Amino acid sequence: MNPLLAGRDLLDLETLGRPEMEALLDTAATFGEVLRRDVKKVPTLRGKSVVTLFFENSTRTRTSFEAAGKYMSADVINISGSASSASKGESLRDTFLTLQALTADLVVMRTPYSGACHQAADWVGVPVVNAGDGTHEHPTQGLLDALTIREAKGSIEGLNVAIVGDVAHSRVARSNVWGLTKLGANVRLVGPRTLLPADAERLPATCHTDLREGLDGVDVVMVLRLQLERMDRALFPTPREYCNLYGVGTKALAAAKADAIVLHPGPMNRGLEISGDVPDLPRSLMERQVTNGVAVRMATLYLLLGAEG
Ligand code: ASP
Repeated sequence: MNPLLAGRDLLDLETLGRPEMEALLDTAATFGEVLRRDVKKVPTLRGKSVVTLFFENSTRTRTSFEAAGKYMSADVINISGSASSASKGESLRDTFLTLQALTADLVVMRTPYSGACHQAADWVGVPVVNAGDGTHEHPTQGLLDALTIREAKGSIEGLNVAIVGDVAHSRVARSNVWGLTKLGANVRLVGPRTLLPADAERLPATCHTDLREGLDGVDVVMVLRLQLERMDRALFPTPREYCNLYGVGTKALAAAKADAIVLHPGPMNRGLEISGDVPDLPRSLMERQVTNGVAVRMATLYLLLGAEG
């Protein structure tokens, strides 16, 4: 059992220590080996129950938490927000107390409300994992991105990373800024002024409104989706203009290092924030990100549940 994380919550990378982050990455790397086996099943979490509670849509994150729990023999119960009693007016606190009374050992939650996972973690005695809270953080995404970069580049220390696009609405960007800078990278945020965070000065990153300048000499280009569902007004003139100025295609990538890698947390809008061909280039590691997502979530469940062996 690794005492660093046993019994704790995973709510953000802003307050998570570097040793804890490295423990998660190193453990995920060992679970990567289980994922390459023909029989992807270990008994590590037999008898443990994991509840995933998703109040927002998800393909990758929910499925990979479920796969992670099942590959380690945990019982995984998935609840979607619309199917829960929250849709009948039950408060989030009562929903959590019910899950605790149903003897869940760990709860994974996604919510449109920034800060709601921290709130929930105060109400229950079991570990809570933030699977994305509003525009705040998405710590397991930050960890899987760090793992993918570390695998491709050997180390994160000293790398220059550009995070491009709708940074203002991106919980992925925030987790990456905190996580990657703690691991020694320099992070640049690149996008139109309206899509850069209003509180950018408190983030350990530089801001760039010119795409070429932002990508100049970087080792990693992380492209973000335009989160239209979180915009209540027009923040850029037209999708075509956004694509012309900030769409990441092969021409824009020429400013980055020749061996720069490209990441995208998904879901991707090909032809908008990223050109149609870039995701299929060998330097684009989106599929690797998805596989590493399962490994990181296995490591998260394993370490937070204080499993042995
Ligand atoms: N899947 C990521 C998230 O849930 C990124 C996105 O939706 O664009 O934050």
